Amino acid sequence: MNLVVDADRVLADLKELHERHGGPGGARRLAWSEDWLAAREWFQGKLDELDGITVDRDEAGNVWAELRSPRDSPPGRTPAEGTRPPGPAFPGFVIVGSHLDAVPSGGWLDGCLGVLAALGVLRALAESGEAPPVTVRLVDWADEEGARFGRSLLGSSAAAGTLDPDDVRDLKDAQGTRLEDALAACDVDLDNAGASRSRLEGALAYLELHIEQGPVLLDTGRLASAVSGTFGDERYLITFKGQSAHAGSTPMRLRKDSLAAAATAALEIREVGIRHDGVCTVGAMTADPGVITAIAGSTEMMLDLRHLDAGTLATMLEENLDACRRAAEKFDCEVSHRRVFGATPTPFHPKLIQIAREAVDAAGGGDGDPIPSGPLHDATEVGRLVPTVMIFAQSDPPLSHTAIEDSPEDALRVAIEAYGRTVGGALEAVANGELQEARA
Ligand SMILES: [Zn+2]
Repeated sequence: MNLVVDADRVLADLKELHERHGGPGGARRLAWSEDWLAAREWFQGKLDELDGITVDRDEAGNVWAELRSPRDSPPGRTPAEGTRPPGPAFPGFVIVGSHLDAVPSGGWLDGCLGVLAALGVLRALAESGEAPPVTVRLVDWADEEGARFGRSLLGSSAAAGTLDPDDVRDLKDAQGTRLEDALAACDVDLDNAGASRSRLEGALAYLELHIEQGPVLLDTGRLASAVSGTFGDERYLITFKGQSAHAGSTPMRLRKDSLAAAATAALEIREVGIRHDGVCTVGAMTADPGVITAIAGSTEMMLDLRHLDAGTLATMLEENLDACRRAAEKFDCEVSHRRVFGATPTPFHPKLIQIAREAVDAAGGGDGDPIPSGPLHDATEVGRLVPTVMIFAQSDPPLSHTAIEDSPEDALRVAIEAYGRTVGGALEAVANGELQEARA
């Protein structure tokens, strides 16, 4: 099915959103804020311009818009087993979307490119005059960024069933407001957010367009790419304990230098990332007492490691912790670690990856290997339950979560066209039962 998204209108919508809810200082769409609600109201106005679309909000605050296929019966839901009408009825739906929320002073593309391209998909279908072969739902996930309370993917993890309200209810923002109260102010009952899970029942595919937010496509001169999955992520706090002592009186051979141990480990950790084609980052070290004339008695190190393959991620973690133990021993220190976050990798659906790859090629982006995503996305959560793929547009400069985030216009056009083609290909594939077979 040839689905042509009007890229001019998507770009015009993006610019309008940025003028109204961004500006030279960057995006003003922090989740659960007045600004965010206003941006969503603007978006609702765009949806209202389309014929045959119904819009509502789920228990986690995610906004859904539906264009129903006449083959989908009863309305928007999978019939219970045994009640499925015979013949051409086709229950189930394909989801398109991303998130409108942004980090403070963020860029004009992160998240909203995917939402407004998904709007372009609904617009193309609604204006074609022909009913889609499969119901299409657009979603604007609530609080993807986690910028205010530190918990990313809030709305999509509620829908995927991986959000535990007790883990997040008492998180506080910079003003001391609790997460649970901020949600309540937006009419979201945290304890009932998990009921949004019903929104994924009957979902046949999830398709998300996003900017890459990194340098790989720019480095290889590619405008867009299919994405193979999102990395699993392990985060640890590692503490090296030695002995604080006078920097003048303590000979080198008699020291227990925790900072030297941590620094040695950090360099080895770098090599682990290179060796396994993953990423390992020591993002911060805090030495105590932090005095120019004292040996550091204890040093805390923040470690983040990511890989698309769960087995390799586990190996990398083992090697990193081993590097820490050996470095501690070398400098006569002790080491302990604490896991602060973990997410398993989400490899995307092979058939959808193939469709997206061909779509990028057909849209003029060239035929290149799909790339993995280092950042987590809503697709990470949805992809655990529903066949999923993403498309990335090149970022140039290769930066995100900053007002200078940008992508070349030709990259955006190729990515938007490829996205439309991917949705068309996915609708065809699910209507033919291809994804369901590939999954079984
Ligand atoms: Zn994003």
